[in-house]
Amino acid sequence: MKTLEALVRPNIWALEPYSCARDEFKGMEAHVFLDANENPYNGPINRYPDPLQEKLKEQLAPMKGVRASQIFLGNGSDEAIDLVYRIFCTPGRDNVVAIMPTYGMYKVCADINNVEYRDVPLTADWQIDPKALLAATDEKTKVIWICSPNNPTGNDFPRALIHEVLTGFEGIVVIDEAYSDFSKEVPFRSLLDKYPNLIVLNTFSKAWASAAIRLGMAFASEEIIGLFNRVKYPYNVNLLTQERALALLSDFSSIDGWLAQIRRERENVLPALAELPIVEKVFPTDANFVLVRVTDANSIYRYLIERGIVVRNRSRVQLCQNCLRITIGTRQENNELLGALRFFK
Ligand SMILES: *Cc1c(COP(=O)(O)O)cnc(C)c1O
Repeated sequence: MKTLEALVRPNIWALEPYSCARDEFKGMEAHVFLDANENPYNGPINRYPDPLQEKLKEQLAPMKGVRASQIFLGNGSDEAIDLVYRIFCTPGRDNVVAIMPTYGMYKVCADINNVEYRDVPLTADWQIDPKALLAATDEKTKVIWICSPNNPTGNDFPRALIHEVLTGFEGIVVIDEAYSDFSKEVPFRSLLDKYPNLIVLNTFSKAWASAAIRLGMAFASEEIIGLFNRVKYPYNVNLLTQERALALLSDFSSIDGWLAQIRRERENVLPALAELPIVEKVFPTDANFVLVRVTDANSIYRYLIERGIVVRNRSRVQLCQNCLRITIGTRQENNELLGALRFFK
């Protein structure tokens, strides 16, 4: 890996950590707070929230098998994705490399930040090609984006191929594991101490069933997390979100139950889809959704909409012609979908 200083934008490297009013008395007992121009009424939401979400990180660290200092929390993973560009990529100069097809936000944030986005197609069976990814890099490539299990294809990539990218690239490798709880593979956040250039993304939005509270996680070396903390908005995760997340973590058994149910449903839905005459291919999935190639995606999509059933039409995504991406729902929702599809003519 290049030095972190060589990878980070010079203006970001030079930033002093932002110090908020509450930092300065840290560790001391206080009960009169007249430092932040807050209104003394309407507690508890009258006070600014903990800017570093320390309580939440203490809870998360043992669950995720990382140290609290290796965690960044943001307004969804989308905040972490944007911060990666703002920390590492000088607009109009640097570039990033990504697989294709993949999650759309990597490209959206590249365009917003005026960073060149180089995409490298997956192979015919949706595998990554480490040599092609590395060949697409040059001295101005700061980041390689890998999403595994990948959205929209659904499959996890073989670990050996991802290791090839991690060891072969001098810059930052981001592995987005938004769906790793649905997969059998060992998640990459357990390898942070082995790979100083690794950033892993997780989210509360999928397996943890909390998309509405907007809470995403990034795991990386303490040095990289320090950079995230310098660049983020000081109070980027609000109090209600922090409290709701703590409540969820204190009752983790419900999450395990939902996960088991979704995995069981996945086992039922995949063969049922494969039997439908309109389905040409059900791609293998390690996530809570499945990509399906059908005879005519646009008309099937419209047919389902007319029946109040919404799936994701990925037909216009390169390499995904005539593909629909279907989330695994409850037994009843899945049955309603399958029932409607059986009657499509
Ligand atoms: C859904 C999803 C996320 C989650 O984004 P949030 O902003 O945390 O809701 C991240 N990455 C991928 C690939 C996703 O599909």
